[in-house]
Amino acid sequence: MRHLALTLSLASTLLFACTDDTKETIDTLAEVTPLTTQEIEDLQFLREEEKLARDVYTHAYNLYGVNIFNNIASSEQRHTDSVLELMSRYEIEDTATATLGDFTDPELSQLYAALIARVETSEAEAYAVGATIEDLDIYDLDLKATHNQNSELQNLYANLKCGSENHMRSFTKKLTALDLTYTPEYIDAAQYTEILAAPQGGCGN
Ligand code: MN
Ligand code: MN
Repeated sequence: MRHLALTLSLASTLLFACTDDTKETIDTLAEVTPLTTQEIEDLQFLREEEKLARDVYTHAYNLYGVNIFNNIASSEQRHTDSVLELMSRYEIEDTATATLGDFTDPELSQLYAALIARVETSEAEAYAVGATIEDLDIYDLDLKATHNQNSELQNLYANLKCGSENHMRSFTKKLTALDLTYTPEYIDAAQYTEILAAPQGGCGN
């Protein structure tokens, strides 16, 4: 009788262990579908593109001390952090460096140098640079959204885009106050007009 009880106890332990393992495997499969090479490259790029926005606005704030640059730099910090958070979930290597103004992607490195040179010419030009960065970010996010059907990536891109649209309206407002207009270089004029007509969004997660 004692022998039987022990056997039953052992069997139930094994059964539970097996059930837990199986459950864990199912959870992992359900939550983390492997990403394609394109999706991985897109996330690594966006991680650095959001960092570029943060670094340029930080530089502009240090030069001109205008709050808009500081506020939007904080928002870009959250954006680059949220890309990293998703990358970590999918165990994707973070190729970005922690150094201000340093970029692994050679195109972003060149773009940073060009934008910084413009920022340094005047405060007004720094607002135009802000509008240019948001213009490019919206264009890239729309493009990358066509590369996947993954709901987590789609949500992330939508949140980043919502933030960029807010920033685009804020920089445009600064330019308008100086009697300046911004002509989009990446998105088309109709999309820009539509963004300007919309109210500031909450961009919640
Ligand atoms: Mn952003
Ligand atoms: Mn932005």
